[in-house]
Amino acid sequence: MKKLFYLFLGLAISLSLAACNTTPSGTDVSNTDTAGTVSSSTNTDTDQITSSDTDTGCAHIYTEATCYEAKVCTLCGEVAGDALGHAWQEATCTEAKTCSRCGETTGKALGHDWKEATCFTMKKCNRCDETTGDRPEGHTWSEATCTEAKKCTVCGTTFGTALGHDWKEATCTEAKKCTVCGVTSGEALGHKWKDATCTDPKECLECEAVSGTALGHTFKTPEGEPLDACAVCGEDADS
Ligand SMILES: [Zn+2]
Ligand SMILES: [Zn+2]
Ligand SMILES: [Zn+2]
Ligand SMILES: [Zn+2]
Ligand SMILES: [Zn+2]
Ligand SMILES: [Zn+2]
Ligand SMILES: [Zn+2]
Repeated sequence: MKKLFYLFLGLAISLSLAACNTTPSGTDVSNTDTAGTVSSSTNTDTDQITSSDTDTGCAHIYTEATCYEAKVCTLCGEVAGDALGHAWQEATCTEAKTCSRCGETTGKALGHDWKEATCFTMKKCNRCDETTGDRPEGHTWSEATCTEAKKCTVCGTTFGTALGHDWKEATCTEAKKCTVCGVTSGEALGHKWKDATCTDPKECLECEAVSGTALGHTFKTPEGEPLDACAVCGEDADS
């Protein structure tokens, strides 16, 4: 019964082939129409494939094909098909290009493509997400100064604003100056001198600094004649 079924199947296939082929040739049909070839196709999923060969009469028992060798009949040595060739898996960061069938490798592992750590992320491979190094502990803040905001010494991120200078106003002798960082602005104002008098030396109106000595009274004329009172301030000579 089975044989009849396959024979019928074979006929059906050959008929359909003839129908599809615009220029059917008799040899095509006759080659596909043998009971042997049709029955061999029913056993293809067993490990060792057996089929009867109408020419040699060998019931072939094939070895498995490998990356390098085609399947070979262990009985008669007939070779069928081609070697499979390697089934390469692409190289990764840590492994070279490898054949998933036979384990052969070629070339080298790619090595990690490191992206440097930040204040919040570890050093990490761009390709495989592997991480390494210390766990990040966030920013390392330096204190804000007169001119710079609080700042991370590692990544440069800033927070808030600069404090601004704490100015002490300029004086007669010192420029405007920051009490925190010591930076100066502009120049010292200079003294505002009040001229020396008979009794007082030159004196600054702002800071009371003095310079030189009092002029002293003038109790004589330019010609040397004595006077009763000071020629400059009118002070009595007797007092
Ligand atoms: Zn064989
Ligand atoms: Zn291989
Ligand atoms: Zn990697
Ligand atoms: Zn930072
Ligand atoms: Zn300052
Ligand atoms: Zn002064
Ligand atoms: Zn005087």
